[in-house]
Amino acid sequence: MQTINANGYSVYFNETIYSYLNEILLPKEYSKIFVLVDSKTSEHCLPNFLANLATEIEIEIIEFEAGEQYKNIETCFEIWSALTELGADRKSIILNLGGGVVTDLGGFIASTFKRGIEYINVPTTLLAMVDASIGGKNGVDLGNLKNQIGTITTPKAVLIDTNFLTTLPQNEMRSGLAEMLKHGLIQDKAYWDKFKNLNNLSTDDLDKLIHQSIEIKNNIVLQDPTENGIRKALNFGHTLGHAIESYLLENEDKNPLLHGEAIAIGMILESYLSLQKNLISNDEYQEIKYIISDIFEQVSFTREDIEKIIALLIHDKKNEFGKVQFALLDKIGNVKINQFIDNELIFSAFEDYKN
Ligand code: NAD
Repeated sequence: MQTINANGYSVYFNETIYSYLNEILLPKEYSKIFVLVDSKTSEHCLPNFLANLATEIEIEIIEFEAGEQYKNIETCFEIWSALTELGADRKSIILNLGGGVVTDLGGFIASTFKRGIEYINVPTTLLAMVDASIGGKNGVDLGNLKNQIGTITTPKAVLIDTNFLTTLPQNEMRSGLAEMLKHGLIQDKAYWDKFKNLNNLSTDDLDKLIHQSIEIKNNIVLQDPTENGIRKALNFGHTLGHAIESYLLENEDKNPLLHGEAIAIGMILESYLSLQKNLISNDEYQEIKYIISDIFEQVSFTREDIEKIIALLIHDKKNEFGKVQFALLDKIGNVKINQFIDNELIFSAFEDYKN
């Protein structure tokens, strides 16, 4: 599959990735290689990854516990310390081998350690392949508030090896699918239409869908790398989705949702808001609701839950001058950014989601 050129780096696919890596990992270029993994990618992905590396440079492995709850500054502190103890310098390179937690955290570590060292993302979940590893956004959570601390620093490269998906659990595959659906909804109606009939998907079909999804995200990022305008379209479903994800994470009596599962609910709710703003038709809304609900289980929210979720919107990163702003659909395949919405309409969106 064709290499995709991004802003200052490239995204390589399956057959080309190890030859690319082995060509650039030369002793005259890098002093040491640090492979960052979590406890699960250490088990499922690291052995195969290391077996394909052919370099004379010393390799050190740094591992942390898997899970969103470890995407925080305490884990960064441990990794910055480990890098120091293991002799990392400004010519060291970090290879982030994992899902979005590893690529977000590892990108942030690399962008701050000694004021910035090079890093490469090797995403191992569907979500990280089509979304988290692309575009240079990185960071960590602050308590339960998602991605509050971070930078936009592009990687040296992104390497997509879809073989890693063979060990990924089904719910994690679904979570990644949510971001692919989003890419169709915000940018490409023909791509969205492909998800209307997902039966009998071959690995080859999936690889093509992944490639297309990355192209869509990359095209948006290329137009607006620092998110002053059109890149906000990528936040469709995320304003409410992130608030739902944070709310369920911080309440121990609630079942947390995976990132994509929360975004799927956010996309249904924000499609309802788009309908109420006359930006999409009722037919479009019903189609979106039907397709997403067919893939993702319904979650119930009480009035009190919804009030607390709305209260969390004030921390959304798109807010300007204290106002919550939504990126809403403007027909399937297009987005209108900087939309203000009354809280009452958000309650009605949850009410409609229930039915
Ligand atoms: P994740 O990194 O937690 O991975 C999900 C689980 O799968 C983890 O337990 C992980 O250890 C395990 N895993 C990873 N690869 C595996 C494999 N090949 N086989 C078996 N298990 C494997 O979560 P995620 O869904 O990949 O990413 C979610 C994170 O991405 C969130 O923190 C979200 O905020 C972030 N994100 C960032 C961006 C961005 O632009 N930077 C975009 C979207 C999401």
